[in-house]
Order: sequence, then C-alpha cells, then structure tokens
Amino acid sequence: PSGERAVLRTDGVTKRFGGLTAVDDVDVEVSEGEIVGLIGPNGAGKSTLFNCITGTLDADEGHVYLRDEEVTDWPEYKIARAGLGRMFQETRIFGDMTVRKNLLLAAQEGGDDVSSLLRRPDDSLVGRADELLAYVDLDGLADVRAGRLSFGQQKLIEFSMALMADPEILLMDEPAGGINPSMIGNLIEYIRTANVDEEATIFLIEHNMDFVMEIADRIYVLAHGERIAEGTPEEIQNDQRVLDAYLGR
Ligand code: ADP
Ligand code: MG
Repeated sequence: PSGERAVLRTDGVTKRFGGLTAVDDVDVEVSEGEIVGLIGPNGAGKSTLFNCITGTLDADEGHVYLRDEEVTDWPEYKIARAGLGRMFQETRIFGDMTVRKNLLLAAQEGGDDVSSLLRRPDDSLVGRADELLAYVDLDGLADVRAGRLSFGQQKLIEFSMALMADPEILLMDEPAGGINPSMIGNLIEYIRTANVDEEATIFLIEHNMDFVMEIADRIYVLAHGERIAEGTPEEIQNDQRVLDAYLGR
C-alpha cells in the first residue's frame, strides 16, 4: 500500500520464547480503511504478533508504530487509549451483568469510578451502547444478563464492547471461531459496517478460510514465525508457498 496513511506498522518484530522464535523479523502495515487478514498454520505466531502489537508482550526486537508514533515500549493501557482496540479469542464478558452494563464497562477509562458509572451512566455512553447493540441486531437484549446469551451472541457483544472506545484500528483474534456457520454472513456484514460507518480499520486473525478470503482486502501469511506471503485473497490462494505451509512442507 503506497501513499495511504498507515494506521499500524511493525518493523522487524521478533519474539522468542526460550529457544523458540515465535515471531521472526515481521513487518506488517495496515492502512486507514483497510480490512487486513493474518493467517497461517497453528503455532505460526499470529497471536504472539498481536500480543506484541497490543503491548501484552514485549517484543525482543523491532518496532511498533501507531500512526506516526512509536509505541513499542508503551504499556498496554496506553496503546489502547491511543486508539488500538482488541477483541479477544476467549470471552471477557461479565455474565452476571446486563449486556448494556458490559458495554458501559468496556468504555470506562482508568480512574473512572466504576460503581457510579454503572449507577448513573452518562446519557451519551448509553446512547452509544444502544447504537452499537442495534448494529449487531441485539438491541432487544440490552437488559438481559449477558451470561444467558448464546456463544455467538456473546462474540457479537464483545465486538460491540471493542467498538465502545471508538478505536482507530481493531485487532480481532479469530472472530468467526466457534460461531454457527449460519451466522458467518451476518458477522461479515457487521465487520464491514464497523469498517465503513465507524471508520474502524480492521486487522484480523482467522482460521476460517472462506471467511477471511471474503472479508479481507489484503492478507499476510505467517509460518514458523516468518512472514512468507502478502497479497490479495486471490494472490494468496494461488501462492505455492502458502499451500506448502498449510500442508506442512
Ligand atoms: P498462532 O496464534 O499462530 O496459533 P501462537 O502465537 O499462539 O501461534 O504461538 C506461536 C508459537 O509460540 C507456538 O509454538 C506456541 O507454542 C509458542 N508460544 C506462544 N505463547 C507462548 C508462551 N507464552 N510461552 C512459550 N511459548 C509460547
Ligand atoms: Mg492464535
């Protein structure tokens, strides 16, 4: 991508666990407005790369930039506050709270008084929560305990929670994982809507090839920690190195 503004860029990111190089000198760049996929066989280093970007892990080498700012050594909360949102693979929902309260909590910043936030939430925050719930067609469930929702509905709640902070870029780790196949088409639409209406640039890891090939503008492929390919879905599908990596060659 030339000439477009990079929202996120990594330069030579490397992460080792003992003798294992889980992420090996990886450069990626995500430009404003893009939906970019990150794929690769199990253990390729995808989640570890995400963790280095979000500040969950410290990279051993390399640099991470958000817009023009180097955030490599920043703590996770500060990177999040600078506009990087994340949706996790595992659910982080409070099952005893209502769906709406989960969204309100997701919007809180360090230093907020959580109990007063929940007792007397700001009208604009409530409005935002309800707007996002309407996006994912769950507005009827705002007052239901989140623990009562199906797995797929909880994933959509998490997606809405990640959008509450109005991130510039949203990292999603296997958003389609465990979701009922009949819901995948909806999920694609929700992500596209967030990309366009909410102006959230998207960087997503996904195992489901049909899903990632349909949704991504561009894809990076990792194998054994190394970036082995980059291109459009069509280019990636026809790349022999990618086929070999998936076949374990
Ligand atoms: P992916 O998300 O592509 O499936 P991961 O990034 O989770 O891959 O893992 C990459 C490699 O790093 C794997 O071999 C995994 O076992 C290893 N790994 C991941 N996290 C840790 C950790 N905290 N400690 C040691 N090894 C790890
Ligand atoms: Mg992973």
